[in-house]
Amino acid sequence: MSENYVYITTPIYYPNDKPHLGHAYTTVLADITARWFSLLGYNVFFLTGTDEHGLKLQREAEKRGMQPKAFVDMMSEVFKDYWRKLNIGYSRFIRTTDPDHEELVKRVVEELWKKGFVYKGIYRGWYCSGCEKFYSEKEYVVVDGKPYCPIHQRPLEYIEEETYFLKLSQFKDYMLKVLREGNHVFPKNYADEVASKIELEGLQDLSIARPKERVSWGIELPFDKRFTIYVWIDALLNYLTGIGYGADMERFEKFWRGSIQFIGKDILWFHTAVWFTLLAMLGIPPPRKLVVHGYLTVRGQKMGKSLGNVVSIDDMLARYGSADAVRFIIARIANFEKDSDISWDIYDSIYSGDLVNNYGNLVRRVTALALKIFNGEVEKDVDESHASVVRQLVQKAIESYNEVRINDATKIAMDIAHETNAYLNREAPWAKESPVKTVYTALESVRLVTLLLHPVMPTTTKQILDALGVEIEKGLNQFNFGYIEKYRVKEAPIPFKKLPKQETQAQ
Ligand SMILES: [Zn+2]
Repeated sequence: MSENYVYITTPIYYPNDKPHLGHAYTTVLADITARWFSLLGYNVFFLTGTDEHGLKLQREAEKRGMQPKAFVDMMSEVFKDYWRKLNIGYSRFIRTTDPDHEELVKRVVEELWKKGFVYKGIYRGWYCSGCEKFYSEKEYVVVDGKPYCPIHQRPLEYIEEETYFLKLSQFKDYMLKVLREGNHVFPKNYADEVASKIELEGLQDLSIARPKERVSWGIELPFDKRFTIYVWIDALLNYLTGIGYGADMERFEKFWRGSIQFIGKDILWFHTAVWFTLLAMLGIPPPRKLVVHGYLTVRGQKMGKSLGNVVSIDDMLARYGSADAVRFIIARIANFEKDSDISWDIYDSIYSGDLVNNYGNLVRRVTALALKIFNGEVEKDVDESHASVVRQLVQKAIESYNEVRINDATKIAMDIAHETNAYLNREAPWAKESPVKTVYTALESVRLVTLLLHPVMPTTTKQILDALGVEIEKGLNQFNFGYIEKYRVKEAPIPFKKLPKQETQAQ
């Protein structure tokens, strides 16, 4: 990336319940990316938040006998609490009920109206209040001759109402060009998927207003006060509010050029066909990178509240003892191309195999050697045979991080740890007459693995680098093998405790 500014976003989440591992998946990946670019010295702005308007939340609040605002006030705090537990270092937690956001949404929708991209019409169609979405004939499923929501597996309501439409259809050619020729969507197959859908079904105008008598909990349509603005339009525009669109355009443009937006594939359509078009209407290019990940599945089924198969963040934290371990597991199971089927067995094997037996063991071995043989003071003496292996892997990990292939970067860090454990076994420095070269080379390897893992496990890696007597700097120089002239090692903590043996946790 040539720009000095990076803007990272997660989707804003529906706060109808506490977040589960599915929310943590996207948010942790975004946080790791933000921390990576921050480590390189970029100016990073990281936005996450809650999507607080719409019928679903209005009903959820009613069910509890609460006002919608009181309900979302409470629930947004629950989300913040979980992000604290997982050490998510966001720059702003945006809420769509924030006054600056409500202002921006009104201003933008008014602008679209004035530019002629919005017109009045009648909407007829099958609607799911769970999804807050109309389903076309091609999208809904038929059960006993009736249209059903494919997500919620329950009947759709037929609705006919006055509304306002956004002229997406006018941007069909633009969208196809951006998706087919542009490089904005990662992995690229998701862009092709949306392009094929547009070629097959066209790009239909989108209803962006809801009558207040049905959806009162929303931002008022500025030019017709009988309506509220469709929650998806409200939600997508949070990405503009986050970096001050309309308030400080110079700052906005700097960050927007370095934008990396994370989403799950379930919201791909809204984040391409609708979002890119909305941006185009405002004269803004698509995000630099829209990073799309697959679902987390449990025995092949997507994790979700309505299916009752969610993995709780609290259970993960309790089992693995730290936010860092949970973040590492998330980074390792991350898959952009495909869904990731998850289970406690998979988490356990990542935790024990990678953290306890490979990386954690290496840290203990190398620091113990440095203390025992040299009383912690180890002068620079590079063994080129191992250093050249590590240099190549570090280079690959850096490239992976820069391309937001977090799973690859983490895997490569583990490869370095593995190679270094094998190197120690081969060289047996404890039996050598002058082992300084081997121990220094192993210390450098540990330092580089630890630096590479710093965005994933900020707390543990800081403790380990402290034990090595190394400061974390900004920039790429610190990734050079042989960067440290002399080590002054102190005793390292045991970073990852072994899992209790007898315990097997049910799914
Ligand atoms: Zn639904």
